[in-house]
Amino acid sequence: MALSKLDSLYRAVILDHSAHPHHHGTLEGSTPLVLNNPTCGDVIQLTVAIEDGIVKDIAFDGSGCSISTASASMMTDAVLGKTIEEIENMSEKFSKLVQGQTIEEAQVLGEAAFLTGVSKFPSRIKCATLGWNALKKAIENDDSYGISGLPCHE
Ligand code: ZN
Repeated sequence: MALSKLDSLYRAVILDHSAHPHHHGTLEGSTPLVLNNPTCGDVIQLTVAIEDGIVKDIAFDGSGCSISTASASMMTDAVLGKTIEEIENMSEKFSKLVQGQTIEEAQVLGEAAFLTGVSKFPSRIKCATLGWNALKKAIENDDSYGISGLPCHE
């Protein structure tokens, strides 16, 4: 496939996610983690349900540009049912991908790998990583998994 055709396919998938985001909303009983990207004005509100170190459910809300919304939507698809370890690995791959670095096994990112073109627009990298950064923070804050859940004395 010619590169321009691939680019327009990627663009179509990104626009579709931004127009019809997946897992959009708020999980009941979860405290939303709110993160913003001041350079663009994007705000994400993320709720995650983690059980036994696995993301059982996830939802996001907020207001953002097409890149941040599409990226958050793709991220929720990619991380559902994955372990925290897998997600840490995916998040690292994604951040390299949008900075234009070559990564192995890009397929683990699912459609999120379609955001590779963001690397040509450095000001948009923060839009693309907002959802992933929010997830990282949500995992750190999660009582069942994060630092806050670790006992003070063994
Ligand atoms: Zn943005």
